[in-house]
Amino acid sequence: SVGVISGLISDHLQNKVSSVRSAAGNEVLIDFLSSAGSKLDPDDIARTKGYKAVCKSLDEIAASDKDIVSVWVASENSGALIADGGRSLSAGDFMLTNRYWYRENSSVMDKYGYVCTAATESIFDSSASVATVISPVCSNGTVIGYVGAEFLVDSLGRILGRYTLNSGCYPIVSSEYGSFIYTPSSDDFTSRFNVNRAPLLNILTQPSSEGVDSFTSGYNTIYYSSDSFTVPGWNIVCLFDSREMNGGIYIFFSFEVIVMICLLALTVIIIRNKLSKEIKLIPLINKASDQIASGIIPEPIDTKGAPNNDLTLIAEKINTISRMMQSKNEEIDNYISVDALTGLPNRVCLYDKIDGLIAGDNSEKNNFAVMFVDIDNFKWLNETMGHNFGDAVLSSFAETISESVGKLGSVYRFSGDEFIIVAEFGKDKECIQNILDKLRSSFNKRLRVMEQEIFVKFSVGVSVYPDDDSSADMLLRDAELALHRAKENGKDRIFFYSNTAEKNSLSKAAIANQITSALKANEMHLCYQPIISADSRDIHGFEVLLRWDSLEFGKISPADFIGVAEESGEIVRIGTWIFESACRFLKQICDNYRDDIIMSINVSPIQLRRSDYLEHVKRVIEITQVNPANIQIEITESFLIDFLDSDNGVIREINDMGIAIALDDFGTGYSSLNYLKNLPVKCLKIDKSFVDEINNDTRDYAITDSIIDLVHSLGIKTVAEGIETVGQYKLLREMKCDYIQGYLMSKPLDESDAI
Ligand code: C2E
Ligand code: CA
Ligand code: CA
Repeated sequence: SVGVISGLISDHLQNKVSSVRSAAGNEVLIDFLSSAGSKLDPDDIARTKGYKAVCKSLDEIAASDKDIVSVWVASENSGALIADGGRSLSAGDFMLTNRYWYRENSSVMDKYGYVCTAATESIFDSSASVATVISPVCSNGTVIGYVGAEFLVDSLGRILGRYTLNSGCYPIVSSEYGSFIYTPSSDDFTSRFNVNRAPLLNILTQPSSEGVDSFTSGYNTIYYSSDSFTVPGWNIVCLFDSREMNGGIYIFFSFEVIVMICLLALTVIIIRNKLSKEIKLIPLINKASDQIASGIIPEPIDTKGAPNNDLTLIAEKINTISRMMQSKNEEIDNYISVDALTGLPNRVCLYDKIDGLIAGDNSEKNNFAVMFVDIDNFKWLNETMGHNFGDAVLSSFAETISESVGKLGSVYRFSGDEFIIVAEFGKDKECIQNILDKLRSSFNKRLRVMEQEIFVKFSVGVSVYPDDDSSADMLLRDAELALHRAKENGKDRIFFYSNTAEKNSLSKAAIANQITSALKANEMHLCYQPIISADSRDIHGFEVLLRWDSLEFGKISPADFIGVAEESGEIVRIGTWIFESACRFLKQICDNYRDDIIMSINVSPIQLRRSDYLEHVKRVIEITQVNPANIQIEITESFLIDFLDSDNGVIREINDMGIAIALDDFGTGYSSLNYLKNLPVKCLKIDKSFVDEINNDTRDYAITDSIIDLVHSLGIKTVAEGIETVGQYKLLREMKCDYIQGYLMSKPLDESDAI
């Protein structure tokens, strides 16, 4: 493949090279440069005899090729440069002798008569990435100047694009000093290879054309083949996706063999004519050589009892070739299917295994589980302890898993710190638990890694065939999803896909069904996210956030179940409970710590529309004895807008009771400030989606800034939500936002942590 690709690029370049070469040999140019040579200023040069003819010649070359950005000539002594279209640069702007290719590539240029530079910015158009073909102009054996043509590097991509994507092979072209000239820019490339520059540079600066090799980059094994180029000064390396490598190698391999076979076949034909009586071996030899020629490994030919003559010798030679093919095949299989670091089979084998199990499924016997195992905090470990240590952890982790799984399943390295166990279990699902238990217990002790002893924790996501899905991709996806849930729930945990909300959320009914018993079953609790004064950084109050840790589904985000609870009306019961619990906690804080804390409670429009809402609020205040001035309720914009059109007095009455009203999620709905002046809103919460962008988007910055100003002029305070970076905090403080809330300051806390 490298050969084919380098051929394609060379062909593409030949045009450019030959225009430049023929220009360099042009008499007009030689005459011109001889007389203009010592002049430094383009204006002076423009008055030189022959100038017009040279310009015409440059214009012609430029017009002949649409990839060419400019064609120029520069004199050896001065370096002043004249280009097509009458463009010129004086020696100060374009010092020929300072150009690196002039210094470093002069030997290449001497040898080949031209050189191609690495990609740089065009000297006239700083936005174009170009490579330049340069050739010296000589008069009586001395160099008097140079001709160069800049052409767009993108044109390489255009000719390579279709070819390379089809074969799973990705070429990178560099100068012999390792600077990149062409790299595939597709997402497909980046998603397949996560390549460090360093190992790649080594290969690019020292190409060898010895077939396929590999290197590791991070935790990926990357296969490549490299070559110096038919273009002087350029090298090429092709990266392969190992999953698609089979084809490539077999081609290399069978090529050598085919040459041998052709010779053999010829001999066979000659001999057959001579010895037509010894027919027994001949059809066998014939069949075997046909098979070999088409890449199939033949059955060994039985030569027992055959006379000791040339024909038998040939049959035996064929047997040797067949054995060679067999062992080469095994070598290749091994090469592409074993992970170099851990010695475990890699994802190629994993897919084969799962596909095999699914294909062979003709009874219940073929049930199996896919367990996605991922080391907890491996990235951190790698960064703090170094990559060598990380590698050693991976090896030792791999060894320990393999030992503990034993014959119960097979273990694969998937990528990085991800391993997959595939375990067949027939009817006996217990077997899965069995493996997981063994796995847990074998990591209950420390692992010995490079003279140190460390605990390695991990999380597992499990999917089951055929219950969860019926293809390798989907089963792996399910297991990975379960793994993510395990990580979200605090790591060091095992999750089954069948228990995740994703598997079940398909039915909202299931959530609606479970939610009715959630409160009673004590599955819900509240947490409290601090709201901080932007200036003093004191705690101003807390936002109360609901949490549901369901036995059936695991942790479910309120974003996923509040809607369902609103639809079923269950939100009313839950909301009542939230209000009462939050008020009790508030009272505790006010009595024991600070009596100016604000408890900000989310209220659903469904609750507010109920005629008994106010009564309920009053009752809770009475029971818990909280001061209403410490309570704030968060209402969304859409409810407030509805309220404007109705004569429902609930908002005003809440306000009259001394409870503050905050407008939540501002910026996600109509974002109209107009109605604010008619409503008793005390505080406006700017949505996270605005905060996310203020550092990157000048429009969002400007909008947020003016919202805060406007709102202040109405006597309303502002809270910015979802602050995750110091940059965001600084900008919001500059904008005079009053309060801030977000993971940067604190995640939502449990009661005990909030106090
Ligand atoms: P919300 O009212 O906008 O609540 C703020 C959400 O942003 C919370 O998500 C909070 O955990 C999250 N958050 C805060 N700071 C950050 C940050 O820096 N980064 C990120 N990525 N997120 C941050 P949560 O708790 O998942 O709640 C989601 C939504 O569910 C809430 O959005 C609210 O609309 C609703 N909700 C939550 N608790 C209740 C409740 O008690 N009653 C009602 N009716 N709705 C609730
Ligand atoms: Ca809220
Ligand atoms: Ca909000």
